[in-house]
Amino acid sequence: MHPNNFDFDWDNWLWQLRSSLKSRTDFEKWFTLTPEEKIIFSQDKSEFNIRSTPYYSALATDHPEDPIRKILMPHALEFDDGNQSLEDPLNEKNNNPTSRIIHRYPDRVLFLITDMCSVYCRYCTRKYFTGHEQNLLKKDELNNGLKYIKSHPEIREVILSGGDPLTLSTEKLSQILFEIRKIDHVEIIRIGTRMPVVCPMRVDLDLVKELKKYKPVFLMTHFNHPRELSLEAANALELFVDNGIPTFNQMVLLNGVNNHAVIVKALSRRLLYLRVKPYYMFQCDPSRGTDHLRTTIEDSEQIQRELWGKLSGLALPQLSIDIPNGGGKVGLTPNFEVSRNESGRSYQGWDQITAEYINPNPKNILKPIDIDTYSNEI
Ligand SMILES: *Cc1c(COP(=O)(O)O)cnc(C)c1O
Ligand code: SF4
Repeated sequence: MHPNNFDFDWDNWLWQLRSSLKSRTDFEKWFTLTPEEKIIFSQDKSEFNIRSTPYYSALATDHPEDPIRKILMPHALEFDDGNQSLEDPLNEKNNNPTSRIIHRYPDRVLFLITDMCSVYCRYCTRKYFTGHEQNLLKKDELNNGLKYIKSHPEIREVILSGGDPLTLSTEKLSQILFEIRKIDHVEIIRIGTRMPVVCPMRVDLDLVKELKKYKPVFLMTHFNHPRELSLEAANALELFVDNGIPTFNQMVLLNGVNNHAVIVKALSRRLLYLRVKPYYMFQCDPSRGTDHLRTTIEDSEQIQRELWGKLSGLALPQLSIDIPNGGGKVGLTPNFEVSRNESGRSYQGWDQITAEYINPNPKNILKPIDIDTYSNEI
């Protein structure tokens, strides 16, 4: 065979990126497209970039209701604005002091170091930014971002995001981490990535060793469905955790994909077994073209309630909704309170046991802590 025809290197992440499915022809080699799926390819250009690695495509089946297929495959309903449809659901452009930095909370910032992903998830919240130029950040964008972080000593945590930071070469990523670590007041670095899900061959010892140099570095993965936890993905997670990189998972509840307590339970337990802590379970943001992928708040609350008590606290993710327009995250906790009065409150627990918790007697409550006197000891 001619060497040029033998371009098959499955375990090589660069091959996975190079061989990604982008056009209708590519997708038709893998899937029997439904009329609704064909429609979006027949437009001049889908509003949101289309792309999937061969690896992730192989996790999907040809069934139109397949959960992984729903994440990667564009659908005609993306043209339906539904009940709420926002270009920038979290109003990040309003908290964007310099290109690539989102500063919404007092002590932590997002640093969008690339707009590229190896799979464009159809529910992406940052469609206004993700997958447009498919470029690395320019030199002045990097420098302005670093300058902003340097000049804001209240920033203790930098969250590398995008796009997907692990689409960068290890060398490039390491250079950025090196620059951030030089800033004294930055304590924690987080990396948000879906590469362990959609291209686990990206994770190798070389990458992990580099990350380890800049500790404490936390990894935030984004598994949505137990079927994404393949042997390759599990090996990638193990490599991070074995090398001392604490790993957390953020999932998004998606209609027809994972909006059932049985699915969330299976995902969370398997992640925990792999030493990955389920962190957030997000309500899907009303990003444009996602109405058909969103769950109702009631549906999400019901799932959270069904998990409560039955799942180890270590495996339990926190249901969270991002207030549209940049209000920040709100945690949704099931309400177990049945009644309250001045002396206490009654609760009914996860298995229906009800009892009252009574507050301590006011005469036994000591003086409030004098924070100024003792603050030197904190
Ligand atoms: C979610 C988010 C964070 C991180 O929030 P945590 O609750 O600490 O995980 C930081 N900045 C922005 C803009 C966010 O949307
Ligand atoms: S990996 Fe994240 S940023 Fe990239 S398309 Fe998916 S949801 Fe959006």
